[in-house]
Amino acid sequence: MLKTKSCGQLTRLDAGAGVTLAGWVHRRRDHGGLIFIDLRDRDGITQVVFNPATSGEAHRTAEKLRPEFVVQVKGTVSIRPEGTENKALPTGEIEVVASTLSILNSSKVPPFYINEDVEVDENLRLKYRYLDLRRPRMRDNLILRHKVTKFMRDFLDERGFIEVETPILIKSTPEGARDYLVPSRIQPGKFYALPQSPQQLKQLLMVAGIERYYQIARCFRDEDLRADRQPEFTQLDLEMSFVDEEDLLQLVEDMFTAMVEKLCPHLKLIKPFPRLRFVEAMERYGNDKPDIRFGLELHDITDIVGHLDFPPFKAALAEGGAIQCLGATGCAGYSRRQVDELTEIAKARGAKGLMSISIGAEAPSAMEELKAEHVKSTLSRVLSLADFQAIAQRCGAKPGDLVLIVSGKTEVVRAALSDLRMELGQRLGLADPSLMAFAFVVDFPLMEWNSDTRRWDSVHHPFTAPVEEDMALLDTAPGKVRARHYDIVCNGYELSSGSIRIHSREVQDKIFKLLGYTEDDIMARFGHMLDAFEYGAPPHGGIAPGIDRIVMLLAGEKTIREVTAFPKNQNAVDLMTDAPSEVSPEQLAELHLCIASEDKK
Ligand code: ASP
Repeated sequence: MLKTKSCGQLTRLDAGAGVTLAGWVHRRRDHGGLIFIDLRDRDGITQVVFNPATSGEAHRTAEKLRPEFVVQVKGTVSIRPEGTENKALPTGEIEVVASTLSILNSSKVPPFYINEDVEVDENLRLKYRYLDLRRPRMRDNLILRHKVTKFMRDFLDERGFIEVETPILIKSTPEGARDYLVPSRIQPGKFYALPQSPQQLKQLLMVAGIERYYQIARCFRDEDLRADRQPEFTQLDLEMSFVDEEDLLQLVEDMFTAMVEKLCPHLKLIKPFPRLRFVEAMERYGNDKPDIRFGLELHDITDIVGHLDFPPFKAALAEGGAIQCLGATGCAGYSRRQVDELTEIAKARGAKGLMSISIGAEAPSAMEELKAEHVKSTLSRVLSLADFQAIAQRCGAKPGDLVLIVSGKTEVVRAALSDLRMELGQRLGLADPSLMAFAFVVDFPLMEWNSDTRRWDSVHHPFTAPVEEDMALLDTAPGKVRARHYDIVCNGYELSSGSIRIHSREVQDKIFKLLGYTEDDIMARFGHMLDAFEYGAPPHGGIAPGIDRIVMLLAGEKTIREVTAFPKNQNAVDLMTDAPSEVSPEQLAELHLCIASEDKK
């Protein structure tokens, strides 16, 4: 090794020892005579001193050092002179007095500061990701990610799981996204699909008798990217035989609890993890991945105002929709501009507008004593004082609060209020950043009607088992069939879906048909699954928590790009290697492909 100790390791106990360190020049300070460098490696930073009086040559070489030069230093560990200790640094009590210095490599001036935690344009960071990853914050994120996967592996190993790798070149498996396709050179005109997940393979491993499988699995989905999406991402994919929902939920709860307590003891948990029914999550929070760290819940006021002769309310009811509200704590004094901003958020989710009631801070605390002069509202001409009182009471509004109302199709109302809730939660600082609020969402429907394609879609995926006693409804009212499906959510993010699976050929066949697959389609796409179910498939179920999102939350980051070593940008481009890129005509020919001319530009 070119070093005997790391730069994060030395303490006052090492004083007097001779050491060799190697790393990057983090900072250099020339103090007229003495030269100090902060030498950095993956482990930390050690101060090195070059004294012209005692080691002239090393000092002369040190004059040439610039940030990010790679050096090797030999010297002696020394306690820092009193008053010069750096309490912020684990090695802050010592310094290494250099006797020799070798420059192992020089460095161009980096395009951004590595030694300062400053905001840098993300595209630049991604282009020079190898420099970005040198920054302590990114290094810490990668180390945390390593600890998370190691913890998962150890935990599951102790519980009798074995890790099995599954192929990346497979046949398409439906997870609701577009596939990435890989053309076959050997089979002209045929394609592999990159796995959206190892779903079918892990089920087949259960048929194979593996009983407890897991994999840190890479998944590929070609969909429009958002902050928490990447074309390729990683799941802790797991599957078990001879289990029911309770076994799976308990396993996941035990694993996440132990993981957070061990790796991030500064973070708090709600124990046991709350369980919400899907319907309840939708009613209270407007979505099925609620951030339960704060209230601001949605309230239906259709019964209070639905009878009014007010066109937006009437229109909502005519389309079977709803009128709902939430009480924004302490926002009664919001300016016109602030309310306009909120209105834009509601409109972005399809709402026609946003109505508001501002309850003056001077209003009495008992809402039944509210008077007209305490209320300012876009609905003053429509609502009576009794209506205002009833609405305020319904959403628990207090003096100084702003009640926001949306009417329309139920999905639109919920989506708009749920986004407003998240925005207000952020603006008002309601979500405790030190809380990891895991929760399970259960009791999902099996299918939902897609009015665009006029077909039933799986809410999870087509392998999810229906609840046994709802089986008869498959023929009469598929939308009413409940699924043996569960989600785990945390702080407003869906970490994972999972389910108990179908393991009977007849049931699986029936579900495929209900989802609109033709007999030929079924055999071509899923014949292998149906066949396998005829050879003693055990009851089984699983889940696949997204590792990127978990690490993002644990690290307190806002996007999964911050916890992914080499992510793609929002346009699915890897700015460092410039992928995707064009390929040669020879490669295309070998793959039996040609590019349609209008797509070339
Ligand atoms: N394959 C599923 C998914 O990616 C997870 C599961 O059902 O285990 O969402």
